Amino acid sequence: MKLLDAIDSLNLWKRGGKRAPHKPLLLIYALARQVRDPNAKFEFSLIEKDIRELLNEFYKPLSGRKHHVEFPFWRLRKEKINIWEVETSGRIKETKSYDAHVRDLRKYNATGSFSKEVAQEIRDNPEVAWQAARKLLDQHFDEPLHQIILERVGFDYETYPADRRSFKRAKRDKKFRENVLKAYDYSCAICGFDLHINTIPVGLEAAHIRWHQLGGPDTQNNGIALCATHHKLLDLGVFTLSKDYRIILSKSIHSPNSGSDFVEKYQKRKIKLPRKTEYSPSLEYIEWHWKEVFREPELVLT
Ligand SMILES: [Zn+2]
Repeated sequence: MKLLDAIDSLNLWKRGGKRAPHKPLLLIYALARQVRDPNAKFEFSLIEKDIRELLNEFYKPLSGRKHHVEFPFWRLRKEKINIWEVETSGRIKETKSYDAHVRDLRKYNATGSFSKEVAQEIRDNPEVAWQAARKLLDQHFDEPLHQIILERVGFDYETYPADRRSFKRAKRDKKFRENVLKAYDYSCAICGFDLHINTIPVGLEAAHIRWHQLGGPDTQNNGIALCATHHKLLDLGVFTLSKDYRIILSKSIHSPNSGSDFVEKYQKRKIKLPRKTEYSPSLEYIEWHWKEVFREPELVLT
């Protein structure tokens, strides 16, 4: 299982809860293509726009600057387990930090591909690619984003192998969900959605404010009860919370046909808080969300 081991040993700058989605997104993108075409090649100049778009969509746009797509593309060659190779038509002169310049990657037709062993492993058993994508998603993205990312890169979600999470994790998730939904009286803290089928709440989720993958605990003060849509929008950085629990919308959002009143009308409104004040979202986790997920990173928490 070379591919899965390589993913577990990826060299990432994921310290202090900072997100590092560059290599994971490039790999998920490349895995989706590799499953469809066992001889896939990834020419830098042809994929850089796609990868930049993925980073803008599932990480966040950098104000006034572009994401460095060349970093993951070039650095993946240097993993402990050989997973990625890059061929060029000329010599790439590395920078002091051992990166390649974008212009050189373009000029010398730099073309990435999975290493021979990994490509063979996927050819022999395409499910390995699925497992690898699942691992990358589990390690780097909150769950509501998994399906959106897979669909976006062209993985066929319908044939995606069933959840293989451990029993322990499932049990822990269940407890978090119950505690959070109860704290919020089984309704969405934003829109009040509280549909039940008989006694079972449906379409309601317990959202982690600071993602579990990035060190967020399973405690009530790191959770909010949200309907499925508001949960996705929180994870996509469409809105965040202020210190006094008001909803702050990203400046990047708009509804071209004014067809969505799903978030806009909640701008600056206070969310419905749990009755027990110790269960209210902790500022520490809101700050993490503001920095790592919300789409207006240049603003300060108000
Ligand atoms: Zn809602």
